[in-house]
Amino acid sequence: MSQQGYVAAPAYSQSQPGRGGFSAGFGPPNPSLHYGDPNSSYLAPQPGVLKSNVPFGSSAPVGPLPPGTHQFSQTNFQNGASTPGQQIHRFQGPPPSRNAEPSYPSYSHQSQPAYPSTASTSADTQLANQLNSMQITSYGPSTTPSSRVSSGNPASFQGPQLPPATQQQIALPPGLQVPPPANNANGLCAQTLPPVARYDGILGPVPPNSNMQQLSGQPPGSGYHPQQANYGPQIAGSQLSYPGAFPGGPTQLAGPQQKQLDPDSIPSPIEVIESDKAFRGGQIYATNTRGQVPPLVTTDCIIQDQGHASPRYIRCTTYCFPVSSDMAKQARIPLAAVIQPFAIVPPNEAPLHVVNHGETGPIRCNRCKAYMCPFMQFIEGGRRYQCGFCNCINDVPVFFFQHLDHTGRRLDHYERPELSLGSYEYVATLDYCRNNKPPKPPAYIFMIDVSYRNINSGLVKLVCDELKTLLDKLPREEQEESSSIQVGFVTYNKVLHFFNIKSSLAQPQMMVVSDVGEVFIPLLDGFLVNFKESRSVVINLLDQIPEMFADTNESETIFAPVIQAGMEALKAAECAGKLFIFHSSLPTAEAPGKLRNRDDKKLLNTDKEKVFSALNSYEALARNCVANGCCVNLFIFPNQYVDIASMGVVTMYTGGTLYKYNNFQLDADSPQFLSDLRKDIKKTSGFDAIMRVRTSTGFRATDFFGAICMNNTTDVEMAAVDCDKAVTVEFKHDDKLNEDNGALIQCAVLYTSISGQRRLRIHNIGLNCSSQLADVYKTCETDALINFFAKSAFKAILSQPLKMVREILVNQTAHMLACYRKNCASPSAVSQLILPDAMKVLPVYMNSLLKSWVLVGRPEIPTDERAYQRQLVTAMGVADTQLFFYPQLLPLHSLDLKSDIVPAAVRCSAERLSEGGAFLLVNGLNMFLWLGVSAPPELIQGFFNVPSLAHISTEATSLPQLDSPLSKKLKSILDHIQSQKPYTMKLMIVKQQEQPEMLFRQFLVEDKSIYGGASYMDFLCCVHKEICQLLS
Ligand SMILES: [Zn+2]
Repeated sequence: MSQQGYVAAPAYSQSQPGRGGFSAGFGPPNPSLHYGDPNSSYLAPQPGVLKSNVPFGSSAPVGPLPPGTHQFSQTNFQNGASTPGQQIHRFQGPPPSRNAEPSYPSYSHQSQPAYPSTASTSADTQLANQLNSMQITSYGPSTTPSSRVSSGNPASFQGPQLPPATQQQIALPPGLQVPPPANNANGLCAQTLPPVARYDGILGPVPPNSNMQQLSGQPPGSGYHPQQANYGPQIAGSQLSYPGAFPGGPTQLAGPQQKQLDPDSIPSPIEVIESDKAFRGGQIYATNTRGQVPPLVTTDCIIQDQGHASPRYIRCTTYCFPVSSDMAKQARIPLAAVIQPFAIVPPNEAPLHVVNHGETGPIRCNRCKAYMCPFMQFIEGGRRYQCGFCNCINDVPVFFFQHLDHTGRRLDHYERPELSLGSYEYVATLDYCRNNKPPKPPAYIFMIDVSYRNINSGLVKLVCDELKTLLDKLPREEQEESSSIQVGFVTYNKVLHFFNIKSSLAQPQMMVVSDVGEVFIPLLDGFLVNFKESRSVVINLLDQIPEMFADTNESETIFAPVIQAGMEALKAAECAGKLFIFHSSLPTAEAPGKLRNRDDKKLLNTDKEKVFSALNSYEALARNCVANGCCVNLFIFPNQYVDIASMGVVTMYTGGTLYKYNNFQLDADSPQFLSDLRKDIKKTSGFDAIMRVRTSTGFRATDFFGAICMNNTTDVEMAAVDCDKAVTVEFKHDDKLNEDNGALIQCAVLYTSISGQRRLRIHNIGLNCSSQLADVYKTCETDALINFFAKSAFKAILSQPLKMVREILVNQTAHMLACYRKNCASPSAVSQLILPDAMKVLPVYMNSLLKSWVLVGRPEIPTDERAYQRQLVTAMGVADTQLFFYPQLLPLHSLDLKSDIVPAAVRCSAERLSEGGAFLLVNGLNMFLWLGVSAPPELIQGFFNVPSLAHISTEATSLPQLDSPLSKKLKSILDHIQSQKPYTMKLMIVKQQEQPEMLFRQFLVEDKSIYGGASYMDFLCCVHKEICQLLS
């Protein structure tokens, strides 16, 4: 695992004494007084006090595994067999100096020439003078298809066209440029919150001083007085933290300039999404060109593999890497790939081909061990090939020889997937197997907490009843008649109960293990069985379990010994597998892994805050599980704090999934839970997996983020990896790249299939390289960038104060945009905000990330909730992070009943709501149906079969099954959305102007948040200001 700290670590590691890492005249005038951090309010620390006590690079890695716990041979560590004497691995033990290489170019001396140091006041003055003419400019139409898409949609910029003619320039209404008045205690950009009328009646009762209410950071709908009392003053204070605050405010604020602001004048994510859909949706996208930017993740199209991996498997932050590390440092654009190796491919796209070379196994480069792929160049009449990754010349094995045609291409090019496709699989040989033995099919062990609460809530019976039918649907290979997966059952409270369910038994037998200090497995034969063979015994057991513990009054539970037991059982059976654990409470019983409540709000935002770090014993347990191919899926039903950070780490490290149902109520929450369980059990996964990412010369993978475990710097280990899990990989230069050769990436995942076959899944992608920064910016993908920023920041908070992590994100945003402005845009006034076309919605996403619960340290947000979201996002792919950080808001009052088309989403802001409408909001975890106070009766009738809004119960978590066309249409939309998401969302019905609306409003990410987060407009102001400072 890379020992590097957070992405921008060097900014601080190279810091000058007393300047908190910002070299003089380069960073914000006062880095401590930073934007949007609610906790910096009123503190106004002196420059130089911002110093982390946490050393950089201490990103909480844990020491190596104890000897012997990992059963892979050295060979397997390298993702497959290698030949003795030829182990020249580029990735072996990168020199320490490389590891210390800045993740990101820093605010450091090197960069200073680019941004000459000037007294920041001059920038401010300049800004103040030109505020009224501030422009947002989408940088001209460019030649790549993707940028054509976005820039070809001028509707997003509705202002007047201004010179120079080569750029699309749009003047923002003066409101945006108006700085907050210096004498305003709130220090707010008042102009972004125009009169109440703008909220179209969405506000609750208008407060006596409505303008002040809004200024003090209240979310729209601020009619909730308790909330005002709680958050008002603090939020107001937080607004002081705009870096340097806009100067010259009062004069600017006065007079007619305080116009109604047109939100359409700033870049709209919806327009970017919709124009890409219009341009590329429904079409065939062939991956035949290196460095080609794929359609957005929100665009439906048919992908044809023609030599590079489908964007379903790999998406990159940019499809053109800068040629040198100096150039990369200048731009500070993260170079990363988000790899979702088991992504689901729709039925109208080709499934992966499997290549089988029998006992010979896959063909690999002798030197770098890269697998045969389209990047290998055949020479000497086809007798040898040059490796595209390390340039080594290899002999072609005799059995693989083929003549070349006049272009130098093998005659069998299109007959062999490994020569012509970006993605394919190899059947692995024994060399690739644990202990050189063919693997057994994986096993699923169901482990049910049968303590008083779970029995009493009906959960135990619910799980048992569901399993009776669900076990028939265990995943199987296409050609298999039934699933090869073995199943086993354990129940527990303070002790463990194992069950013998051998098919020959008439009744299941229970064995109790009460020594939980050192768990042993009381039976081998009969614990793991084939469901089909033992069906009657298993059904019998599932019938009996709820009865068996019906009279329990045991309320204490264990947890770590449960996982230990599951892992030992898999180990004893010599197979990989998954544990499905159904648990409710903090494990307080006397046993290893006993937890206590360590949720101390007093430590919030202090260096002592360790709420995200797991207890060491859990981390060790997690690593042990990975070493034994044991993946842990945790379904947790908490009523209070349960230390998700500790309990969840086992799930996270083992590639498992964490499902959380707060205050579980059988009636209201069963549908969500059962749907999650069904989906999870049916998922296709790879087991006992090791992933390795190889690159062509000049750059290499340096950091990895995901539900993974690493014991060295190169091997990404996952006890299991399913279709929804993505690993984000960061790359760094270690030499110059070559524009002709490009930057090639090969991801190989060695795994055991559900039928017990050892396989290699290979994904290849080629990117371009350029010495022109403009090429790099042109091919950026904002959705992938946000995935990277979220995961790297969520990892960084383990070792760095939240505040610093947040500042780094803001600084980096400004830096990337300033570098573009300086090097790629045509000359224009400093006051113009110019955004690269491919990054024009980066600020709105970045602002949403900054407002996420994980990055906002507020006592109101439960610690477990933050730890939970942190874990979920860390494993997400690009589509999931896109939706999570920019929820979909669909107008339902304008449904076209005749077409199948889902209505286009609107921007995530209260302004887009209307009291006569109904809207669906979805972010992948939450789902709301918002109903306006004047929603037409036909609409209410159609959805709910009641005459008016007042008759609708907001307790309901699903819609009534009605025969009305409206209801059916809505149902089909919900089903469609849900089918594509890994987590089942519980529907919450929210009526305008009622209390639960507060929760709903938090998801309107373009607006100010109740936790002090800025509106999109304010954030854009802030970023623009930082850019001006960097440029001055
Ligand atoms: Zn090679």
